Amino acid sequence: MTDIAIEATGLTKTYGKVRALRGIDLSVPAGSVLSVLGPNGAGKTTAVRILSTLIRPDSGRASVAGIDVVADPLGVRSKIGVAGQYAAVDEYLSGLENLEMIGRLYHIGGSAARTRAKELLSEFRLEEAADRPAKTYSGGMRRRLDLAGALVTRPDVVFLDEPTTGLDPRSRGDMWEVIRDLVGSGTTVLLTTQYLEEADFLADDIVVVDQGRIIAQGTADHLKSQVGGERLTVTVADEERIDEAVAMLGPIGIGEVDVDRHTRTLNVPVDTGTSALVDAVGRLGGQGITVQDIGIRRPTLDDAFLSLTGHRAEDDDEDQEESA
Ligand code: ATP
Repeated sequence: MTDIAIEATGLTKTYGKVRALRGIDLSVPAGSVLSVLGPNGAGKTTAVRILSTLIRPDSGRASVAGIDVVADPLGVRSKIGVAGQYAAVDEYLSGLENLEMIGRLYHIGGSAARTRAKELLSEFRLEEAADRPAKTYSGGMRRRLDLAGALVTRPDVVFLDEPTTGLDPRSRGDMWEVIRDLVGSGTTVLLTTQYLEEADFLADDIVVVDQGRIIAQGTADHLKSQVGGERLTVTVADEERIDEAVAMLGPIGIGEVDVDRHTRTLNVPVDTGTSALVDAVGRLGGQGITVQDIGIRRPTLDDAFLSLTGHRAEDDDEDQEESA
């Protein structure tokens, strides 16, 4: 195992007219967690599929655990585990049987496979459900079983493709704990996600991907400082008064006021927390502008995108097929 567990240079991949990756560079030190953060269609899954040898890049190079993904895909596969959004769980087998089956596929002997399966079920808090068919599991339990399956062979490097997309907040929290334990044991993890908080909680380093390119990179704190602090979010009752509200709230903010006219909502980057909220209520009230909803919130991925790219994440679709 080299000190750099995952390395990629200039990866590109095009599907027909869609340029899914336009030159991605990655370097993940062994034992660390890199999060690839981006909206739907940014190219995250494509990057994971190249690094886990399921597809080849059109150009560029990548190696995992020091092994080239194109020259020696079998070598790479012997070092990695992959889990993600679409759980590779057999619905009709129990949790224990699912994990034992994976052990057998990798030629781990019967009793060793059983011991490893039981160990993982206990680590992933699935002991009580071990003998039930997986189809009776909740979404969160299924994801945990899927992740356990990726770890049967004790891989050096684990790819987690959107491991918590679609989970409720509690199951997401459980999954985060499990992933943290995994990282504590020295495994290198590349995790893709659409959630800034997830990257924040789990990752040592984050790359933000948009339309197949890396648009920002750094620690969570570094990115947050680029994104700005909290957001004051105000929904005004009367559409006609949005512009007045923007003029009133501009001076409270530390950046441009973002307006969604459709929902009559203003987002103002602020750094004074609740006092900005009190100030806003006073200013708007003074002008007789009725506030329907108001609050302070942490920046979302959408805010990060707006701040980093000047456009919202969901505006990307029409640009995806451009060929230039
Ligand atoms: P998601 O969060 O939806 O999984 P993603 O960031 O993982 O998104 P990718 O799945 O890598 O994104 O997709 C990148 C782009 O490539 C998208 O525009 C997608 O529609 C397109 N794409 C992915 N796979 C294929 C394919 N097999 N054929 C054609 N286009 C594809």
